[in-house]
Order: sequence, then C-alpha cells, then structure tokens
Amino acid sequence: MIFKKILICAVCTAILTGCEKRSISSVTENYSDRNIFAMDTFMTIRAYGDNGDEALKSAEQRIKYLESVFSVTAENSDIHRINVSDGSEAEVSEETAELLSQAVRLGNETDGALDITLYPVLNAWGFTADEFRIPDSDEISELLEYVDYSEISVDGKCVTVPEGFQLDLGAVAKGYTSDKIADDLRENGVESAVINLGGNVRTLGEKPDGSPWKIAVRNPFDTENDMCVLETGEISVVTSGNYERFFVDEDGQKYWHIIDPSDGYPADNGLVSVTVIGENGLYCDALSTALFVMGEDKAVEFWREKRDFDMILVTETQEIMFTSGISDCFKNLTDMTEEVIADD
Ligand code: AMP
Ligand code: MG
Repeated sequence: MIFKKILICAVCTAILTGCEKRSISSVTENYSDRNIFAMDTFMTIRAYGDNGDEALKSAEQRIKYLESVFSVTAENSDIHRINVSDGSEAEVSEETAELLSQAVRLGNETDGALDITLYPVLNAWGFTADEFRIPDSDEISELLEYVDYSEISVDGKCVTVPEGFQLDLGAVAKGYTSDKIADDLRENGVESAVINLGGNVRTLGEKPDGSPWKIAVRNPFDTENDMCVLETGEISVVTSGNYERFFVDEDGQKYWHIIDPSDGYPADNGLVSVTVIGENGLYCDALSTALFVMGEDKAVEFWREKRDFDMILVTETQEIMFTSGISDCFKNLTDMTEEVIADD
C-alpha cells in the first residue's frame, strides 16, 4: 500500500502579505492587495497607486475567466471539451487557442521536454485527483501512445487532437495568466505591481520607492524556508520543484508531478528545483518545467544556446548553480555551495 503524502505549496514567494482562501481587497495608503484562490493555488496581487483597487477587480475577473477555460476538470472548460472530443474538432476561446499554439511551439523548442498531452500519464499516477498509485510499465507504455504535443492542431479557434489524447495546461497556465494580468494592470493605469500566482511571480514596473523588488525562492530541502532572494526590476521568476506535489511509497521512494515525456516516469535527472528568470511569464513557466525534465547538462546546454533567460538550478547533491546574468542580484540564504554557470 502506498503511503500517501502530499505537499502543495507555493514554490517561491514574493515578499508580500499572507494569503487567504477567499478574495479580499484592502486599500492602504498607496497600494491595494487582492488575495485570490484560483487554478488550485493561492494568488496575491499588489498594485501600487490610485488605480490599484479597480484594476485588481478586473484582474480577478480575468483570472477567474482564464481558470474557467483552462481547467482540466470543469465540465464546460475548453480543455475539458477537447479532452472528451474523441478526435473531433473543438471550438475554443481565443486565449486557449493562443496558449495551445504557444505551448506547442515551446514543446518544439524544448525538444518535447514540455509536453501538454501528458494528461493520461499524470492521471495514471494519480496526480490529477491526488489518488496516488504506481502504474506498471506496460500501462505507462500504452498510455505514452497518446502523448505527443506535435499532434495538436490549432486552426484559428478550432482545436483537434487525435482520439484518446488529453491535454493539461498545468505547466504553462499560470505563466500565461501572469502576463495577461500584467498587461491588464498596465492598461488600467497601474505602473507598479507584484503578481504572485502561487509562487509564479511577475513584477510590473519599478517599486515606487525606487528600491528593487525582492523575490524569494523556496529552499527545496527545507520548504518552510527560502533559499535565496533576487533583487530585480520588472521580471518574471518561476520555479518548478519536486517538493510541490509528490507521494512517497512504503519503501520511502518519492514520486513527483513533473513527468519525463520520454518514459512516463517522474523526471529524475539530478535536479530538485529549477527557477527561470526572464521577461515573459509563459516562457519562464514553460522552461522551468522543461529544464527540470532535461536535467543539469541539457539545461545548461539549452541556456547556452538561447541566452534569453537566466536560471537557478538546485541539484539533488545540494548545489546551487546559476547563470551569470543574475550574479549581482542573487543572495544565497543557505550554506549550500553556489556556482556560477560558465558562459561557454
Ligand atoms: P510546473 O509546476 O509549472 O512545473 O508544472 C507542473 C505541472 O505540469 C504538473 O502538475 C502537471 O500537471 C504538468 N506536467 C508535468 N510534467 C510535464 C511535462 N513534462 N510537460 C508539460 N506538463 C507537465
Ligand atoms: Mg511550468
């Protein structure tokens, strides 16, 4: 029998207020906060300036809307309709079509490490309903027949996947949402904000007092505490870690929610957490998952090729490795060894 254990927590935390499992809004001197529970996660948004409160109301509506179309479980969501489409065409919202096209592109860019068609495999492991089990290798091999992001066809708002294929946007939805919220806030007159979607952090503009934003990243070996702080300007910071959602079997073996699409097992390539820092929330979200799957060597190779993001890798041997672009803003809060990844 499997000893079930689950820990779902924010991956990294902007240094902000605490969260509550309901939406609240409070206006203080020069900023407004809103705490929202959506997409299975606690979200906090702080908007500075006079327009904050109104802007946050529409941000919350936008989040609820995106949740309603991206949800894998809600009966009427776009993703649910695709997942029960049996190979026929499904018409979806503009946002779903956009995110699916981007996720397919990012699947290509990461050579399939990001694959949003993994749902049948995630389901077999019980990660979709928190009913954990270890599928046998035959079951996994059979299910992998239904995993291949390149089979997704997006034509305008019409989406087709082969019979038996099912999608899950868990690896990319929050990053996409953070970008949309940042755009909305700006359109609504907010020039300065922190959007923290369950550890998927996006800052907007500069902090009004001129000091840098401080974004903390959780310690994967001590999840109650932070591993480092990044001092930055406008940026996205997204972490994927093996401590976010997992179970442990009776022999003490740990199984986590990030799956290697090449074999259908939890990705076990030497990393326990990956943080990606960059301009675009969706890109950072997609890469944090994909680089976790790739493991240290391939992740470093990928970064050297792209150079359009920074990253922090934490190895299972308790080493922190980060790219040179964040050397000046990275503050290690632990006694783990740190190493700057060489440029080539
Ligand atoms: P993240 O926390 O962004 O790394 O996303 C992890 C979530 O994405 C998991 O809970 C699954 O729902 C899904 N997922 C797991 N492995 C993959 C993968 N290799 N590619 C795409 N989605 C994945
Ligand atoms: Mg991700």
